[in-house]
Amino acid sequence: MEFCPKCGSIMKPEKKGNNVYLVCPKCGYKEKMKSKKFKIEEKSKEEENIFEIKNLDLLPKTHKLCPKCGNHEAYYWVKQTRSMDEPPTTFFKCTKCGYIWREY
Ligand SMILES: [Zn+2]
Ligand SMILES: [Zn+2]
Repeated sequence: MEFCPKCGSIMKPEKKGNNVYLVCPKCGYKEKMKSKKFKIEEKSKEEENIFEIKNLDLLPKTHKLCPKCGNHEAYYWVKQTRSMDEPPTTFFKCTKCGYIWREY
């Protein structure tokens, strides 16, 4: 949530074309929303999807080097991305440290 630097009211996002602005409904102050923020939001949403997998014991294991701790065993699962033209993404989760990474 963003607050107006002028009057302290809660600012509302407003989309115009490809840009998103934060607009203060009280005093009309307007500022361009940083695209960075949106990227972070998207990423966290994607990560939520990854953590949907709860029954890790049901996942198959494979011989895979964990890039974080060097462990040689990881759970893996495949997820089809939004677009059917793209190849599915394979996710790995280290059995030792729990680190999750992906391969295309
Ligand atoms: Zn304001
Ligand atoms: Zn690991």
